Order: sequence, then C-alpha cells, then structure tokens
Amino acid sequence: MKTITCREMGGPCDTPLSANSYKEMINAGMSHLMKAHPKMAEDMNKMSKDDPTMIEWEKDFKRTWAETPDM
Ligand SMILES: [Zn+2]
Repeated sequence: MKTITCREMGGPCDTPLSANSYKEMINAGMSHLMKAHPKMAEDMNKMSKDDPTMIEWEKDFKRTWAETPDM
C-alpha cells in the first residue's frame, strides 16, 4: 500500500490517498478530484489523453509512484 497526497499528484490540497497499484492510485486521485476539486476534474476531463500537459503529468506521476515507499 502506497500513500500519495493530492498535492504530490499535482492537486491543490494535502489529503493523503492510498492505493495498492498505480491504476488504483489514478482512480483514487480522480475520485478525490471530483469530490474535492470538481473544477479541476472538469478541466482534466476536457483535455485529451495525448495533450502534452497530460503526458507530462503522467510521466511525473509515474516517477512519484515509483519513488514512494510501499508500506
Ligand atoms: Zn485535494
């Protein structure tokens, strides 16, 4: 189980989110975003998966996930 904060995922708050896999973490991040920061979720949904911002974000997030210790 790894714990990454909203901020480490590029979000605006320090809410910790936990998941067992990278995919689960993305889902946890997205549902937190929709609940806590609906405006940001809306902006992200408007972006295509090939948008350079999204590609850059995914690269950063993959690194954060890899560097976070598994508890
Ligand atoms: Zn947040």
